[in-house]
Amino acid sequence: MNYVDVWGGVLSSLRKTLPSHALSAWFEPVDPIGFSGDKILLEVPNQFFAEWIESHYDKELRAALRSNSDKGTNYRFIISDKEPTPLNPPESNTGLTTAPLHKNNINKQYRFENFIEGSNNEFAKNAAISVANNPGKNGFNPLIIYGGVGLGKTHLMHAIGNEAIHKNPDLNVVIITSEKFTLDFVNSLRKNKTIEFAQQYRKADILLIDDIQFFRGKEQTQEQFFHTFNVLYQSGKQIVMTADKYPGEMKGLQTRLLSRFQSGLSVDIQPPNFEVRVAILLEKAEQNGLSLDYDVVEFIARHIKENVRDLEGTIIRILAKSSLMNIEIDHDLVRQVVQERTGGRLNNDISMEDIIKQVSISSSVPEKEIVGSSRKMEISKARQISMYLCREIMGASLNNIGMYFGGRDHTTVMHAVKCIKEKNEKEEEIKTFIMSVKQDLGYAFS
Ligand code: ADP
Ligand code: MG
Repeated sequence: MNYVDVWGGVLSSLRKTLPSHALSAWFEPVDPIGFSGDKILLEVPNQFFAEWIESHYDKELRAALRSNSDKGTNYRFIISDKEPTPLNPPESNTGLTTAPLHKNNINKQYRFENFIEGSNNEFAKNAAISVANNPGKNGFNPLIIYGGVGLGKTHLMHAIGNEAIHKNPDLNVVIITSEKFTLDFVNSLRKNKTIEFAQQYRKADILLIDDIQFFRGKEQTQEQFFHTFNVLYQSGKQIVMTADKYPGEMKGLQTRLLSRFQSGLSVDIQPPNFEVRVAILLEKAEQNGLSLDYDVVEFIARHIKENVRDLEGTIIRILAKSSLMNIEIDHDLVRQVVQERTGGRLNNDISMEDIIKQVSISSSVPEKEIVGSSRKMEISKARQISMYLCREIMGASLNNIGMYFGGRDHTTVMHAVKCIKEKNEKEEEIKTFIMSVKQDLGYAFS
């Protein structure tokens, strides 16, 4: 069964289950682009789209796939490389009747100027700039940018394309994901057009190819890519690739390819540290016309740490929520969005030790008294507050808390938590104290 028909069927099924505005807002803009294993690949305009569908319509989408596809209910989103302007003719699904992804498909938003530099990515950025200024003639050929998801590899790759074309508009810049390269290649095999396929790529002055780990295990595609690579490399054309790992550590890629890759330069991008995250958030907020207070930015940066795409997603979601629900962007909204994105937990790296230390500092009760057995009022109050915070911030179990606090019974902990919870609602002094501990822990806004 072909993916276009499957998707057609899915849309008709969804038409019966979803309101028409949902269908036109979220499903009609989706382009099916093929199958990868048992997953149907769906191209969507941006990350937000993908997340929205996944978080709101996963059940419906799977049900519709179940009744329309013989491959099961799995799907995967591919974020479109295309700019959302009507000037771009839609690409044909065969991938052969139009030119391969090139100039027009460079995302013009991804530039060096809006790529925030930090110690985690400066080497990669500078190598990329050097390649863009001097393609094929810089010793960095091929350039491979590698690192975890959402850290800016694709951004840098498009930035190279944008900058190179800006410097020399005549350059033939070909930019493509490895996934699309594979699909186009397979299509060309089916249609006996592998020669045309190869030629499209061999005319490139710069070939930018994203996520080469996708070639894993695809022998024939690797073969094809190997030849393309050699032709370009030998005529001094620039090749830039991105990957999820250091090429030397990639499994499932032919060794002759890997050894070619190692003749160039491999640079990594690491997760951003706190300061870089703040800088990125400020930049993204500005790009989206959103003005956020600094404490909000800092709060997000303290909680969302893994990757830049998540930081960006958080900003977009805050914006979407406030405009869809027509509410002000306040601390509650921000906390809610951050909590959703971290899977309900805030700051999962705060430990019981951190909490006790902070309560100790704020109450002047020594740490060892807090976990000790004294029944003095002041001490037991600090203890109970600490237990309450362990429960609230970390979601720790009553048993674990009891164990940590000198082997107390879980009912003792339960009592403490309940008691402080009530006081926190009624007694101003306790409330203020708890708030200040949370702030000092970076858990709440200051
Ligand atoms: P990757 O390809 O490594 O998975 P992307 O390049 O798609 O990651 O980056 C994810 C998002 O984060 C993109 O929207 C990109 O613009 C943004 N981004 C990543 N790193 C930076 C950075 N240093 N400065 C600004 N934006 C960044
Ligand atoms: Mg990418």
